[in-house]
Amino acid sequence: MTNTVPARSGIMNISPYVGGESKLQGQDRITKLASNEGPFGPSPKAIQAMVDAAGTMHRYPDGGASQLREAIAKRFGLDASRIVCGAGSDEIISLLCSAYAGPGDEVLYSEHGFLMYPISAHAAGATPVKAIETDLTTDVDALLDAVTDKTRMVFIANPNNPTGTYLARAELVRLRAGLPEDVLLVIDAAYAEFVNRNDYSAGVEFVDAGQNTVMTRTFSKLFALGGLRVGWGYFPSEIADVLNRVRGPFNVSSVGQAAAIASLNDLDFQEKSRAHNLEWVEKTEAGLHALGIATTASTANFVLARFDDAKTADACDSYLRCQGIIVRQMRGYGLPDCLRITIGTADEMEAFLSAMKTFLGNRA
Ligand SMILES: *Cc1c(COP(=O)(O)O)cnc(C)c1O
Repeated sequence: MTNTVPARSGIMNISPYVGGESKLQGQDRITKLASNEGPFGPSPKAIQAMVDAAGTMHRYPDGGASQLREAIAKRFGLDASRIVCGAGSDEIISLLCSAYAGPGDEVLYSEHGFLMYPISAHAAGATPVKAIETDLTTDVDALLDAVTDKTRMVFIANPNNPTGTYLARAELVRLRAGLPEDVLLVIDAAYAEFVNRNDYSAGVEFVDAGQNTVMTRTFSKLFALGGLRVGWGYFPSEIADVLNRVRGPFNVSSVGQAAAIASLNDLDFQEKSRAHNLEWVEKTEAGLHALGIATTASTANFVLARFDDAKTADACDSYLRCQGIIVRQMRGYGLPDCLRITIGTADEMEAFLSAMKTFLGNRA
């Protein structure tokens, strides 16, 4: 008998993250609305930057991502020295967990929060703890009630994936003020660029106000570069220093850095993507409401549809698959009666709404 080498305690508690599917048996034309990807492909300027960078791939990247950090700082009015880039914001989330939580520590997040939080907490040997949500929205009082002596970190996605709901600035103020000073608050603002609400803050002012709050961002959503894996975070200087010690020296590829800079500079692409998203979140939610399907009020690039029960959600998912349309099942998020639909092109959304109409008509 061969002896196996056991992984560190906690690792085997991880349910591996399952991404959205992109293929269906026997279908060659697929409409993929399952992974919150951009509907238009990357910015043409980003594509050109990747082509231009290809000839220097024998060189290691700039390990400090200095031009990219400067470009982010300029665009968002930040201090470049307190930005750290990562291989997607997933890497930043995981680095934060491994640097700030370990065995015996609790990492708090909300009931239907992003699954990378419990995965990264377990990977660090820490214990993920969920606080209930109210009306599919992060509940500040429930989070504060769930804090114990062992709580080291609190993660909130704002807006949250997969619910699409957000916390207003005043609620973030209340959360930060109610947490012990030595608890790190991570504001994951992966969808910040899509939000059009006056009372929203992506979190910069909270990072600037102290030593215990950080904000993570990504090039995967509005900037439509999910395949490249580029994310970043904004930190108090001590935390940036910690992350720069634990991250891989070349964690963001040179192609990724070049494309991210080019896409930051393509304001037309961003504006077009944002306007398209606002239009189609509204139209998709209204279309579903007209068919008697409830949704949350999404502030991100997807819609969360809530059916009468899990059976109906599953039947709808199967029907959509038969039509070549892939949306995301929500069982892993504790929402078996919901489906999450990413905003695609106008044609894709019209095909989705028309399939929904047929599905519901057939059931009546
Ligand atoms: C998509 C997403 C991310 C990060 O994605 P990366 O591609 O790793 O940058 C982070 N948080 C939430 C809530 C997301 O939905």
